[in-house]
Amino acid sequence: MDSRTITIKDIEAVSLFSRGSTEIFKTGQWSSKKPFYVEKISPCREACPAGNDISGFLSLAAEKDFDNALEALLQENPLPGVCGRVCYQPCQAKCNRGQYDEAVEIRSLERITAESGFAVPKMFSSVASDPKNIAVIGSGPAGLAAAYFLARFGHRVKIFEKLGEPGGVLKYGIPDYRLPKNILKKEINRIIALGIDIETNVNIDGKMLDNIKSAYDFLFLSIGAWIPRIAGASGENMQDVLYGLDFLSDRNNWGRYANKRHVVVIGGGDVAVDVARVALRLCAPGVKVTMVAPEALDDFPAIPENIKEAREEGVKMIGRYKPAEFIVTDRGLQHIRLSRTKVRKDPKTGIYTMTPARGKDLVLEADLAIVAIGQTSDVESFPSEILDGDYGKVFVNEFGMTRIGGIYAGGDLIRQRPAVVDAIASGKKAAIAMHLQTSGVKSEEIMPMLQLGAGSSLSLQAYMDAGRKIRDEEFKPFEPFKQFKPLEQLEPFKPFKTVVQFSELNTLLYRKVPPRFGEKTPPKLRIQGFEEVNKGLDISNAVEEAKRCFYCGKCTRCDLCFLLCPDISIIKAGNDGYTVKTDYCKGCGICATTCPRHVIEMGGGQ
Ligand SMILES: Cc1cc2nc3c(=O)[nH]c(=O)nc-3n(C[C@H](O)[C@H](O)[C@H](O)COP(=O)(O)OP(=O)(O)OC[C@H]3O[C@@H](n4cnc5c(N)ncnc54)[C@H](O)[C@@H]3O)c2cc1C
Ligand code: SF4
Ligand code: SF4
Repeated sequence: MDSRTITIKDIEAVSLFSRGSTEIFKTGQWSSKKPFYVEKISPCREACPAGNDISGFLSLAAEKDFDNALEALLQENPLPGVCGRVCYQPCQAKCNRGQYDEAVEIRSLERITAESGFAVPKMFSSVASDPKNIAVIGSGPAGLAAAYFLARFGHRVKIFEKLGEPGGVLKYGIPDYRLPKNILKKEINRIIALGIDIETNVNIDGKMLDNIKSAYDFLFLSIGAWIPRIAGASGENMQDVLYGLDFLSDRNNWGRYANKRHVVVIGGGDVAVDVARVALRLCAPGVKVTMVAPEALDDFPAIPENIKEAREEGVKMIGRYKPAEFIVTDRGLQHIRLSRTKVRKDPKTGIYTMTPARGKDLVLEADLAIVAIGQTSDVESFPSEILDGDYGKVFVNEFGMTRIGGIYAGGDLIRQRPAVVDAIASGKKAAIAMHLQTSGVKSEEIMPMLQLGAGSSLSLQAYMDAGRKIRDEEFKPFEPFKQFKPLEQLEPFKPFKTVVQFSELNTLLYRKVPPRFGEKTPPKLRIQGFEEVNKGLDISNAVEEAKRCFYCGKCTRCDLCFLLCPDISIIKAGNDGYTVKTDYCKGCGICATTCPRHVIEMGGGQ
């Protein structure tokens, strides 16, 4: 029966002795406001360069469903076990929970998910109808990420790697006490198993590059930055003065430092910290290791956690000094003279300059000095038109393409933050752009749709929806919800563009709970070997930590809207979440106000 045809008889039937149902009174038809279920992204996800679906994988980890949690991570990131250990975690700095008590330990949860879950990366539904041959030069995180996404798009990928094993800095730079090599191997095997061909021990020079260029449809350059920057102090070219990445990667010769007693490391970044910590482990018992950098002590650029761990292990640090002279006699290096300096960062270019400062020189005893003040890339074999001015890097546009069509580049070879997750992000971006190019779709039309929030990270989850749109298939709402209003009437890709702010959450349901951290081996034991220092969360602590997440913007089917709706207008729709009985919803907005995760919004009716 329709409400327009209700008669007095009908009203008597339901009101006098409650013999009937009030369903005939479609009171919702009088209201203009209705609730919409619109998932959104969390600020942590917007900040993650890899675009990890953090609220998604954490909601699964909280249910102990590590297999599906890992599958969610692998959708966006080929190296969650690596990132779960060494990422500088920009996500946590933006976590909404940080404004309530303390940020969720996202990185530790990524790590245990990678360890405890089992999942196989999925091919994309829009696989290439005309697969291309694509060469990747260099197998660090940038090259591995590009290969991973290209293979999932169905292209034929071959990686060329100069060293004996793939992994780049992950394999040859970052020491085992931070990144055990079995973890890396497992993740690389999962990538290669997608059908990627890899040739190691092949150094691609200019001539080979020309040959590869003509044999392949696309090229991704990701050779990293391995040439050390020189400190420019006198005596630097002497024996006993080494360079950071050379020292770390030359493991066969580590035995020769067993008698060194005074090691000075020049630099304050992650490479310098790793050099100092490795020296502590390799050199004579009781070795004195000192880091010297031009920045003030609080401004050393390394990840704060790495600095803290190095200090706990006994590394001394001196700020605002730089080496002026390596004092060498016929008995080898004896001392280092340091001069006072100050550092200035040009706000426009971001380039640091050092100028002398007033203050006394310092002289440190040293029988080994290791300079770790950064690396540049070996761009000699590249055509000059792809170079980026005087930066010693390759220039790429916003889609990762160089000035030569079909040649893309990423990682430490381009101008961006030299970090693992940024290298992954650049490989992912180039892979998507190459695939779009093969599909004859303009990157400038599609890429903005894939950007998460206002950030630069891209989402393959969003790509799946864009892909459907490109192919003009039925455009389904963002899973798992059926929108009350068809998605195309909403702002395009709203679920991926709108970031949930802390003020939009209903935190009344949460209590303050401190975060959980993994155990760390005591410093005295750590320096006796290369065992991983951070033991990570165990399963039960991980589940509890994952439960601390607010799951910003993600419906967890907590049923609060269903339970609190005074009009019984919210109906459970099985796996599709909830639907709203618009004929009865009066638009009171209780569901939207109480939704802890800001998934429900009030808007105009149909
Ligand atoms: C000691 C150290 C510690 C670090 N710690 C951290 C950390 O904790 N967190 C973080 O986020 N980042 C860290 N970084 C930075 C991070 O590792 C890099 O930003 C990242 O590895 C860059 O990735 P990539 O793929 O561009 O290059 P790389 O990892 O350098 O890989 C480049 C690959 O290309 C190969 N190659 C080079 N030339 C050729 C050629 N001509 N032909 C074929 N192959 C070639 C190399 O052998 C190498 O395998 C650290 C770096 C170092 C050195
Ligand atoms: S990759 Fe880094 S930024 Fe992204 S979720 Fe993991 S720890 Fe956070
Ligand atoms: S509470 Fe959870 S979803 Fe929200 S920002 Fe923090 S980690 Fe991300």
